[in-house]
Amino acid sequence: MRYSGLRVIKEALTGHKGWRPAWRDPEPKKSYDVVIIGGGGHGLATAYYLSKVHKITNVAVIEKGYIGGGNVGRNTTIIRSNYLLDGNEPFYELSLKLWEGLEQDFNYNAMVSQRGILNLVHTDAQRDAARRRGNAMILNGSDAELLDANGVRAMYPFLNFDNARFPIKGGLLHRRGGTVRHDAVAWGYARGADMRGVDIIQNCEVTGFKIENGKCLGVETTKGFIGAKKVASCVAGSSSRVMEKAGMRLPIESHVLQAFVSEGLKPVLDGVITFGAGHFYCSQSDKGGLVFGGDLDMYNSYAQRGNLPVVEDVMEGGMALIPAIGRVRMLRSWGGIMDMSMDGSPFIDKTHIDGLYFNGGWCYGGFKATPASGWCYAHLLATDKPHEVATAYRLDRFRTGHMIDEKGVGPNPNLH
Ligand SMILES: Cc1cc2nc3c(=O)[nH]c(=O)nc-3n(C[C@H](O)[C@H](O)[C@H](O)COP(=O)(O)OP(=O)(O)OC[C@H]3O[C@@H](n4cnc5c(N)ncnc54)[C@H](O)[C@@H]3O)c2cc1C
Repeated sequence: MRYSGLRVIKEALTGHKGWRPAWRDPEPKKSYDVVIIGGGGHGLATAYYLSKVHKITNVAVIEKGYIGGGNVGRNTTIIRSNYLLDGNEPFYELSLKLWEGLEQDFNYNAMVSQRGILNLVHTDAQRDAARRRGNAMILNGSDAELLDANGVRAMYPFLNFDNARFPIKGGLLHRRGGTVRHDAVAWGYARGADMRGVDIIQNCEVTGFKIENGKCLGVETTKGFIGAKKVASCVAGSSSRVMEKAGMRLPIESHVLQAFVSEGLKPVLDGVITFGAGHFYCSQSDKGGLVFGGDLDMYNSYAQRGNLPVVEDVMEGGMALIPAIGRVRMLRSWGGIMDMSMDGSPFIDKTHIDGLYFNGGWCYGGFKATPASGWCYAHLLATDKPHEVATAYRLDRFRTGHMIDEKGVGPNPNLH
């Protein structure tokens, strides 16, 4: 069923009897051409592009919970293409271009809102770094504008410009960045993939791999064995646990990241701002809540909840930047598991096991990558060759010395 304004009117006039579930709830078949493990944004986008672009439709997405229950439904919804390094920026620029046409493409309202992202700068050195990053972005086809303090003041007069420790000296504005309704992305991709014949199998956990003579023949699941010509792992925060079942140890650590939402307010913040001197970033949802977050909890964990010191740290950051926030009540908070890689960049690659592929290491920036990750993973699965914008995302890059260390902090996953 195609969604449209006309369809809404027709259904309204006929008692809403024509709506159908957005995707089926099938039992798994004995085998598939491709089995994707993980029904998060990346797994569902991969299934969608495999079926739509490459016409490979004998595909199953195996999800241990319900789709949208992982990080795709837990993030702070920010999308952007403002990376510095050549290994990254063309990939994120492809992703942003796909976001720009996504709703028309998959016929679903994902509320893509290019409301702009402003990264604040508080020192002269930060301004130099922002200028360099902005130039790299422009060279790769993205957009960037360097604002001085007055430029920032014209946009957000309520920020604390004269904070004695962190005066605002300007900001790097990326107008095409913004927010997207995160769970609608999962639903839109799921619906689009299902429509083309992909089986989305929820409440089915992958518990092991069948590997014989160096070849992966399928997956063991809580609903029995499912054979596959190709198995594609795409489980984000659970990457180490799942790939361990195939005997692989990944260059990834799992950490908790928290997010927060305030009570609903009248429109006050029409873009996304990030504090350059502390761990705080913020946007306002269409329901009115301020959506904000900060740093990792800094310890390894698979728990989808965080601890109080980080709550305090994020609130302090918010107060330093927007003093008026002190009068706002916080409504809720939650945590998600981050697959933090050793250099802060992801992987989209074959493994050393024939027929087994890996996608992960998205750290806390994987939501914005969802379309390009699906696009490039589908390309790899269909052609057995990396997509041209994802050639750097190799599993062996630490052995060969080709790290993509965007932040320049070395092998410290919690700092990326
Ligand atoms: C608080 C927070 C804020 C964030 N903010 C942003 C942001 O603003 N911008 C941004 O770009 N990114 C952000 N991120 C990161 C982003 O959400 C993730 O990088 C991205 O969603 C990960 O990809 P995914 O959607 O495929 O993951 P998920 O949705 O986690 O999908 C993985 C799926 O695999 C399933 N799975 C795991 N093990 C198995 C198994 N054995 N068998 C079957 N299924 C299994 C899980 O149940 C899960 O549904 C944030 C994350 C968090 C937690």
